[in-house]
This record gives sequence, C-alpha cells and structure tokens, in this order.
Amino acid sequence: MPSIKLLSPRLANQIAAGEVVERPSSVLKELIENALDAGGRRIDVDVEQGGARLIRVRDDGVGIPRDELPLALSRHATSKIASLDDLEAVASLGFRGEALASISSVSRLTLTSRTADQEAASRVEVEGRDMDARISPAAHPVGTTVEVRDLFFNTPARRKFMRTEKTEFGHLEEVLRRQALGRFDTGFTLRHNQKVVQSLRPAETELDHERRVGALCGQKFIDNAVVIDAQATGLRLKGWVALPTFSRSQADLQYFFVNGRVIRDRLVAHAVRQAYRDVLYNNRHPAFVLYLELDPANVDVNVHPTKHEVRFRDGRLVHDFIFRTLHRALGDVRPDDHFRGAV
Ligand code: ADP
Ligand code: MG
Repeated sequence: MPSIKLLSPRLANQIAAGEVVERPSSVLKELIENALDAGGRRIDVDVEQGGARLIRVRDDGVGIPRDELPLALSRHATSKIASLDDLEAVASLGFRGEALASISSVSRLTLTSRTADQEAASRVEVEGRDMDARISPAAHPVGTTVEVRDLFFNTPARRKFMRTEKTEFGHLEEVLRRQALGRFDTGFTLRHNQKVVQSLRPAETELDHERRVGALCGQKFIDNAVVIDAQATGLRLKGWVALPTFSRSQADLQYFFVNGRVIRDRLVAHAVRQAYRDVLYNNRHPAFVLYLELDPANVDVNVHPTKHEVRFRDGRLVHDFIFRTLHRALGDVRPDDHFRGAV
C-alpha cells in the first residue's frame, strides 16, 4: 500500500472542480452569481464557441481590492460569510468560496477588478494553477471582469464531455435566462461569437417585468398566464402560472425561485402538480415562473454544492401555501375560461 499523502492544493481543486464545473454553463452560473453578490446592476456576458474558448463576465459591482485578488482564487476563501450564524442566514448566492478556485484549476483565468477607492485596476492571471498568481496593473472601471479561456484545457477527460457548440450555447442561454428571471433589477447582455443575442435593461415596473418574462420565455406564455401574488404568515408567492391550455409536452418552462435563487425541489414540484391535477392531462406539464420569498433562516441552501436544492424548515407549510395559492388562481379561471382559452 502506498503511504497516505495530503493532496496538493492544485489536485484538490481539480477534484472539487468536478462537482462545481460540469460544463461551460456551470462556469457562467458561478460568475453571474458572483457579479450579483457584488451588487452589479449591469452584467455583460461574452462567450465564444459555446463557452469552450471564452466565457467573460463583466460587472459594475463593488470590485475586489488589489491585495485580495489572489485570495479570491483560493479555495475556502470568501467575503460572504464568516461564521456558522452567517451560514444559517445566508442571503448571498455564493458562500462556499470554491467557485473561482475550482474554475481556475481547469482553465486559463484572468480576474480584473477595481474598487471605488482605488485609482487604478489590477489584474491577476492564473493558468490551471500551475504557477503562482501574477498581479499586474490594468485598466478597468469600478467593478470586475472575469475571463475564463480554454475550459478543461488541462483535463482532457472533461473536455471530451463537452457537446457541440450549439448544445453548450443552449445551456449558457438557459443559465442567463434563469439569472435574468431572478433579478429584474439588473441589466444583462449576452453575446455569442461577438453577436448580441440578448439585451435586457433593468426592469422596474410590473409591465417591464412582464416584458422581460415575455422576452425570455415567449410572449405566448405571458399572454396565457395568470398573475400570482399571495401572502401568508412569513411567506409570499408572486409570479405567473400558465393556463392549463398552455401546457407543454415537456417540463421545460418551469422556474421556481426561493429568495432569488432558482431551485428544483420535489416538495415544490409536488405542490404545483397537485394544483394542476384536475385541469391538466397526465402527460402534459404546466408552465410557470414563480418567486417564493421567506425568511432565509427558514430555508437551508447548503444542501448541495450547486445550491440547486434547498431544505425548508417547515416544508408542509410551504407546500400547502403553494398548493392553495395556485389551486385558487387556477380555480378562478375554470372551468369556463379554460375552454375559452382553448379556442
Ligand atoms: P463565493 O462566491 O462562494 O464567496 P467564489 O470563489 O465564487 O466564492 O469567490 C470568492 C470571492 O471572490 C468572493 O467571496 C468575493 O469576495 C470575490 N469575488 C468573486 N467574484 C467577484 C465579483 N464579480 N465582484 C466582486 N468580488 C468578487
Ligand atoms: Mg461565488
């Protein structure tokens, strides 16, 4: 038996990267979340070749002080939580301090940033973590740009799992769609191979919100949706649910946000399905964009590294609230409207 050795930081990061960085879209998700956590209100995304060659995210957030740049790339280094109490009430999208360390271990990463009280920007570059971080002066307005080139260049096994440019770009678009649905207050642009694919200004009024949802999910969805806005003790549910007549053959238009974070949850899925049970054929899927707000202390987001799953403190209460709200909303439009919608 070989003797027990501590993994090198580089190898540890590459192993961790396997969990967080599955494909280009997972990189994009992490970078946009960081931009949002930094208070960015304008986020510009540039990708090339489905993200395999380049993923660049630029924000106008608070930036990173020069002397913290190398730390930002270290594992378990975060500015978002400092204690277990913080973790239990975490409101930021990130908190594990793992994304940049993981991404930079499987790509060529450049981080350029400037804070408001710094006169000049700085840049740190790493390449698969084979070398120490290089810091140099740079030009950049207040905010941050992270550039990820040649994803998986040093992990051929991973690279092989990347699909066609079109498929990977589809995943990238989906990530942007989710983030843009989750944050109306933020403007987003998406460019692929130098062509503007999506351009969304910050949406302020309810009408602007509806326009954005229409731009991202299709105007037909909005035209066929019931507006949801309900409250119960400590819970609020807002958004849009499609009439049963606008059902889908796939569960591909289903977005559920908990405190601004898009999640997939069995309990939530069950509550929605129950609400549609009487009005939808078995093989059809409802379409919805819903936002649940509750005290962060009543939901645990630290269930999985990708944070797609959550655990509610009082799952039953949440389930009943969602079910009752949607059931009533759909009840208000049936049975007559149901058929009217069909013609
Ligand atoms: P986490 O988001 O879990 O804290 P990351 O590895 O994604 O971990 O980022 C590490 C740290 O780098 C963050 O805590 C933050 O302080 C800083 N950082 C990363 N991206 C940005 C950004 N776009 N703007 C400002 N700070 C950032
Ligand atoms: Mg992060």
